[in-house]
Amino acid sequence: MSDTIAAIATGGTISAIGIIRMSGMDSIAIADKVFRAYSAARLTQAKDRQMYYGELLDADGEIIDIVLCVVSRGPNSYTGENTAEFQCHGSPLVLSEVLKTLFKHGARQALQGEFTKRAFLNGRMDLIQAEAVIDLIESETVPAAQNAAGQLRGAVGIKLESAYASLVDIMAHFHAVLDYPDEDIDDFKMAVYLESLCTVRDELARLLSTHERGKIMQIGVPTAIIGRPNTGKSSLLNALLGYDRAIVTDIPGTTRDTIEERVVFGGIALRLIDTAGLRQTDDAVEKLGVERTRLALRDAGLVIIVLDGSVPLLKEDHEALSSISQEVPRIAVINKSDLPTAFDADTLDRFGIDCLRISAQTGDGLSALDAKIRELFPFPENVPSGEIITNARQADAISRALNNVSHAMDAIAAEVTPDAVLTDIEAALSNIGEVTGKTMREDVISRIFERFCVGK
Ligand code: GDP
Repeated sequence: MSDTIAAIATGGTISAIGIIRMSGMDSIAIADKVFRAYSAARLTQAKDRQMYYGELLDADGEIIDIVLCVVSRGPNSYTGENTAEFQCHGSPLVLSEVLKTLFKHGARQALQGEFTKRAFLNGRMDLIQAEAVIDLIESETVPAAQNAAGQLRGAVGIKLESAYASLVDIMAHFHAVLDYPDEDIDDFKMAVYLESLCTVRDELARLLSTHERGKIMQIGVPTAIIGRPNTGKSSLLNALLGYDRAIVTDIPGTTRDTIEERVVFGGIALRLIDTAGLRQTDDAVEKLGVERTRLALRDAGLVIIVLDGSVPLLKEDHEALSSISQEVPRIAVINKSDLPTAFDADTLDRFGIDCLRISAQTGDGLSALDAKIRELFPFPENVPSGEIITNARQADAISRALNNVSHAMDAIAAEVTPDAVLTDIEAALSNIGEVTGKTMREDVISRIFERFCVGK
């Protein structure tokens, strides 16, 4: 068992309850030193996962808080080690005093993600589940949370374990063939192995195909809001955000800088970039903004072009409409629907772009915009919860595994020597092992857990 770590597991603000957790060899002994149960029970004799009510004492024996304590002995705990948890009153000061007391008794501050890292190293969860913990904490939409919870339950791990086991079976056979070269490979068996590889390949391909949606879940869609000055881009941004973030004025060109905000709209997280517009300008600062608009357009996964419906279309509007690539999902919003209309939506037909009439000021048409975005980024059908691959590292390793399995199948079909097939299958096994954490370098593992917060 390893040294004893302690951390505040809850947020740093005043709240009803604050939780301090410890894990490691001495955690129950340390907890026993600082806790006096009203029932007079000792934590060293306490039942696992049962709440004890009592007083928490500092190193001088002075009472700091009245708390609930629960211990859980390894290996059947979150980390697989002995753990103790105090539910204190949620005062940052009290929590900090409790933590200091635990340090005085020999615990040390836990590093970021160290509890979950220990859970992984002690075989309590695979790397996919460990990464799902942070995804669940950071999820911005309900489907993203549901998917992370599904992964935490082991949805992807089960699929990959089964693929891994099939590959191990085939590898064992090919090793036997290599070890006994006089024995021919039975044709019947070859067909069975090819079929088994085909199942593995299809499963890997299916998982990989979810990653497009997974990326949207994980990092959102970079969204460029463009249009000439004064059409209402900042107002739209604010309407989407629900609060004032960008400066809104009547003077054209005041949105000089680009501002990035995330907002959940249309069922996905939009990474909104409000820009200085596409206007040609001599102003140096504004030029910078115009350049950024072009960059934003280059990187955008969704473009919302804002037109001012209360005045006739200008040359700059036409230029902006023509500048958007046909390949990127795009929507034209004709803003200021609360004012009399100065042009017909039909005039935009030749740009082949979907138009919506909205008012950023009154909120009119925003629900139609929400529906339009849902339509442009539909949720994949028939993908069970937890089986959407959100993580780029996992997707990359699955993609390499898929290539290696396909290569092995080609090699078998071409009747290449068994050692060549073995090389491909071994590589695929190693790739799958990277996803689950079976074959993972220590430095990469450390990097993964650095993403976590302290106390998780
Ligand atoms: P931007 O330069 O494109 O970012 O435009 P702003 O968001 O700064 O808006 C320019 C002006 O149009 C401001 O005076 C806004 O109050 C006004 N405006 C924006 N949206 C609407 C709207 O839906 N209706 C009306 N009547 N005015 C709007």
